Amino acid sequence: MANSQAVISLYDEPMWESIRAHDWQLQQCDDCSEFRYPPAANCPHCLSMDYHWKPLKGRGTILSWVIYHRQYFDNFPPPYNVVAVQLDEGPIVMSNLVGPEPEGNWVGHKVEICYGEDVAIGTVPKMRLIPQSS
Ligand SMILES: [Zn+2]
Repeated sequence: MANSQAVISLYDEPMWESIRAHDWQLQQCDDCSEFRYPPAANCPHCLSMDYHWKPLKGRGTILSWVIYHRQYFDNFPPPYNVVAVQLDEGPIVMSNLVGPEPEGNWVGHKVEICYGEDVAIGTVPKMRLIPQSS
């Protein structure tokens, strides 16, 4: 069985530095203000090459989720979940929900970014539920 490993490109490195500092940042386009994810040379919306790094507010909404009951990677023992989260800034990211899980359908639940450690990758962004009352 394989270990999952991060493949880091030129544009990924500043993002992973910000994640290691627990201050996840993405590129924001200087021309149209859209956020880029994954990191890239050009804006996917207007093709501009100009950008600056901007810290995320740290919140998003679950768009989809799955719970794996079978092991595919040595460092991901089952059961574990994967969530697709739309950040308040717009991009959709894949992560894991940690802590309490919603009853029933997870779609639409609000989450906030937290950080965890992966044995192969190091510090990675995770998501945790924002209590409905807050
Ligand atoms: Zn743009």
